[in-house]
Amino acid sequence: MTEIKHHLTDDLLMAYSAGALPEGFSLVVATHISLCDECRARMLAFDAVGGAVVDDLSPVALSEGSFAETLARIDAVGADAGAETAPEPTTARSGVFPTPLQAYVGGDLEAVRWRRVGGGVRQAVLRVDRSSRVRLLHIPAGTAVPDHGHRGTELTLVLQGAFRDEVDHFGTGDIEIATEELDHQPVADLGEDCICLAATDAPLRFHGLLPRIAQPFLGI
Ligand SMILES: [Zn+2]
Repeated sequence: MTEIKHHLTDDLLMAYSAGALPEGFSLVVATHISLCDECRARMLAFDAVGGAVVDDLSPVALSEGSFAETLARIDAVGADAGAETAPEPTTARSGVFPTPLQAYVGGDLEAVRWRRVGGGVRQAVLRVDRSSRVRLLHIPAGTAVPDHGHRGTELTLVLQGAFRDEVDHFGTGDIEIATEELDHQPVADLGEDCICLAATDAPLRFHGLLPRIAQPFLGI
């Protein structure tokens, strides 16, 4: 993998550490952290701050028997516990998708159910709660995504290949944080198809008429 140049902000890491991010953003952050030693170290530092805050709180007594009850429930759930909703960062990576993402897709690239969005670009919307939208984008080498702006924040993480837009060049592992001020048109590098994970907390603003008409059907 090329060296990661574009990282998470402290704000995002802190909110992730505090469990305060929308689910789609959490997934992008967890996936970047699984690829990036630097952000993982910064996230652990924020986790330590959170732990210190909890340690400093004056304890509030729970009802009698709650400890034994909790242990009994852990026993009852046993090894077949379901997946938790908050994605956990790990460093394991096999194939294109890091582990936190594979849990959402149900496998690696071969498990993705792509839909065409025009111009050769394909996307797959992933299931998260209603606080955000998250999708995979497949942009053929040398192809442009329709020019668009943002009503909220958009996080884009490159999982394969690279793209360039008005801001900079983003390689595998890099994350772009786009805000309301940014209008951009990402174009995939020549040579390799670009696969990205993108999360938004508000609908995109397309400039072209056709993308605007198609938008409600595509759910982006
Ligand atoms: Zn990073």
